[in-house]
Amino acid sequence: MKPVSFISFDVEALPGRASEDPINRLIWGKVNGAEFGIRRISSILKQHKIKGNFLIDFAMSALYGDKVVAEIGNFILEQGHELHVHLHSEWLVRKWNIKGLFNGPAGLNQLNSQLNRQFLQFSAFKYAQLFGLNPICFRGGGFHFNEHTVEAAHAAGFTALSNFDCYRHREDWAVSEEGMNNEPFKWKNGLIEIPVDFSPEPLSFQWEKYEGHFGRVCSRKRRKTFNLTLHSWSLLKRSGELFEQIAPDHEERLHRICEHLTSNTEPMGYADWLAMPNDAPALTNYTCKGSIVEVPEKEHVCTMCGAVFGEKLPNDVCLGCGSRARHRQLHDVFSRVGNPFIGCRVLANFANTIEKVAFLSKASEVLNFDVRPVGEVDVQMDVQDMSLIRDESYDAFLAVHVLNHVANDRKALSEINRVLKPGGVAVLTVPYRESSSTSSCENVTEHYGSEALAKYGVGSYRRYGLQDVLELFGELFAVQAEIGFDPITQERMKVFILRKSPTVQITGMEQPKSSALFKAQAT
Ligand SMILES: [Zn+2]
Ligand SMILES: [Zn+2]
Repeated sequence: MKPVSFISFDVEALPGRASEDPINRLIWGKVNGAEFGIRRISSILKQHKIKGNFLIDFAMSALYGDKVVAEIGNFILEQGHELHVHLHSEWLVRKWNIKGLFNGPAGLNQLNSQLNRQFLQFSAFKYAQLFGLNPICFRGGGFHFNEHTVEAAHAAGFTALSNFDCYRHREDWAVSEEGMNNEPFKWKNGLIEIPVDFSPEPLSFQWEKYEGHFGRVCSRKRRKTFNLTLHSWSLLKRSGELFEQIAPDHEERLHRICEHLTSNTEPMGYADWLAMPNDAPALTNYTCKGSIVEVPEKEHVCTMCGAVFGEKLPNDVCLGCGSRARHRQLHDVFSRVGNPFIGCRVLANFANTIEKVAFLSKASEVLNFDVRPVGEVDVQMDVQDMSLIRDESYDAFLAVHVLNHVANDRKALSEINRVLKPGGVAVLTVPYRESSSTSSCENVTEHYGSEALAKYGVGSYRRYGLQDVLELFGELFAVQAEIGFDPITQERMKVFILRKSPTVQITGMEQPKSSALFKAQAT
């Protein structure tokens, strides 16, 4: 049988490797008005009918913003390649000003358990937030990783790593026999490692070297995999630290690699391979010998995306994911009482991307609506009149800081009650004051402006008092008020979990369902 091969490209734009505009130079490969980046790489792969594995560095999200990262990833997905996760943690450390690490290289191999967990959570969160995908395969920047990374990748939901190379890591890793010839193996937590065989940078290497690496795979491996790693900038020539010129010989060399792979191996995507049965043995013993940089305890941690900040942020918006205090507070409550939306049909009044990824990704079905025709919603509908929705047809309802912008909140609550199944749950947050009573706002247009008010009736109608809001919700629901904590602002807020009574219907055949709240615990 032919060996299985994987060709992978780390898609990254590290500052300092381009004199200007790292994204255009190092990802799209723009030089003199032409492109020698991932577009050209993809077209070469397609000429040879090879599916590539592109591992996108999510430090770019922090460095250059989500929009450019989304564009890059969407292009790769549109081309039919696999998109996986790469992370140059040293840039997160710098960008987020994590003291104690600030001046060092700070690869994942030098980080403790907490920072590995935060950073892997961050990369998995961004992957889900930007592409709606569940994480599969991870590679650390510079192939750096340690035992904490292996644990963190598992905790963040990855199923595989492609990091290890028994030759490269001879110094810092001691592994038992199963890992000694770069065959795929399982870490103790079940994560599969797809070891790296050859990183032929720059692509001007001597062809004999390639044959030597391939020959080693054929002669030494029982489970024959050939895993090659390249970069988004591989078609450019490096001079010093900079990539400024094109390199026609690199392009010719990539063609030759593709030709060799198609005639001598079976090229595959990591995910395609992982979906097939494999008999990768468990690694019985391993230790990473690298040393860990000590860092002070971090207080400013985003519980949603994992971002860690070395200092207090100017406001409540997380620089990693854009979540606000209310989201982290909700997240905190769900981590204790369980996520009530798992497996449920959910009706959501204007859930944004953060709320969708963090709270609704495991719902069986979500209908997202708003009274305004805004981009993210599925249907335009007023919470005060949801006549489009049948009685008792949804398990759960979500509205984050919405009710204060609705003219008739009682009417909205009665509609929410009507569309929920018996025993159904509504999760609501509203801004409130602890000790005063509910009062009207002087200026209804203060938040959304006069157009939203005139066209859709959306305004800032009232400031709730805590006692009043509890009574209001209590008119139709059993109210559970849970305190959520936000570690970025250090603020607490009550989240209201309202349960419609599980009415026993005399004519009904079905038993009322038990509350969705206790169906499943958040993971
Ligand atoms: Zn890299
Ligand atoms: Zn965040």
